[in-house]
Amino acid sequence: MRAAVVPSVNGKWEVKEWQTPKAGPNQVVIKIHASGLCYTDVHITHGMIPVQFPHVLGHEPVGEIVEVGPGVTTRKVGDRVGVGWVQRGCGRCEWCLRGKKELCQNAISTGIGLQGSHAEYMLAYADATMLIPDALSYEQAAPIFCAGYTVWSGLRLADPKPHERVAVVGIGGLGHLALQYAKAAGFETIAVTKSKDKEKMIRELGADEVVESGAALLAAGGADVLLGTSNSWASTEEAAQGIRPDGRVVVMGASNEPFRFNMGMMLSRVRILGSSQNGPEYLYEALDFVAKKKVKVVTETYKLEDIGKAYDRVADGKVRFRAVITMD
Ligand SMILES: [Zn+2]
Ligand SMILES: [Zn+2]
Repeated sequence: MRAAVVPSVNGKWEVKEWQTPKAGPNQVVIKIHASGLCYTDVHITHGMIPVQFPHVLGHEPVGEIVEVGPGVTTRKVGDRVGVGWVQRGCGRCEWCLRGKKELCQNAISTGIGLQGSHAEYMLAYADATMLIPDALSYEQAAPIFCAGYTVWSGLRLADPKPHERVAVVGIGGLGHLALQYAKAAGFETIAVTKSKDKEKMIRELGADEVVESGAALLAAGGADVLLGTSNSWASTEEAAQGIRPDGRVVVMGASNEPFRFNMGMMLSRVRILGSSQNGPEYLYEALDFVAKKKVKVVTETYKLEDIGKAYDRVADGKVRFRAVITMD
């Protein structure tokens, strides 16, 4: 099969022949129809998350099952499926026993422990696959398996109440979906962005207000929930100046920067929440919003052969708003 292979840390992605996977026990082989690019692909290429190179990245996979391995009973050839980030826990630690495999320290993840989806075929554990609603196209579904799943999980973790205000900082692949999910769930929604040139588009996505900074957010009434989707924690920290008492700041962008808590936050009982993909019920809901056309992914599509171009645009932060490889 053809696959986008990263040869080494900081290596240049090359589309080349790669071994076609075979389904082992409890596994399926998916013929990939669409695969989204995430900024985490850039982090992995730069060695921030260790993988065994050469490696095929990609953790927003969707396609159809073309082979089922021994022991698979709930999936069949022809099923339209996608796969989230964490596929399998060790099954034996406290968090696996509690049914929270996403917290397992020895979890096997898509595009990390297993080869990823920037390829014609991908191997996955059958239990990690999620059926895709019939009404949903592959191109719209793919980015939900990381970006959509992540931001909806974060909003659910913050547990917003009726009448609360939700702000989103970082209007990119994750942020443009976070705005739409918050709006679709019925909350007054505010975008925090330096890109005033994007204001018209951001309002069309569902933002009731667009502000440039945490101070401007505060002046506009503040937010009870701040969804930090930016890979710059400094931006999230700055926007958190606009958080209201009893507010929650959800940090979702990957970074190694420190995140500073301050006295004002302590006195106003602000909570900082780390969040990623918090369990399949949120993936189910995230997909359902898109199938019902309440949320729409804004995509740039590329052929597998052009993935290098897509990668450069992701790395440079130029994509509006999610780059997706389509195989059809
Ligand atoms: Zn991702
Ligand atoms: Zn475990």
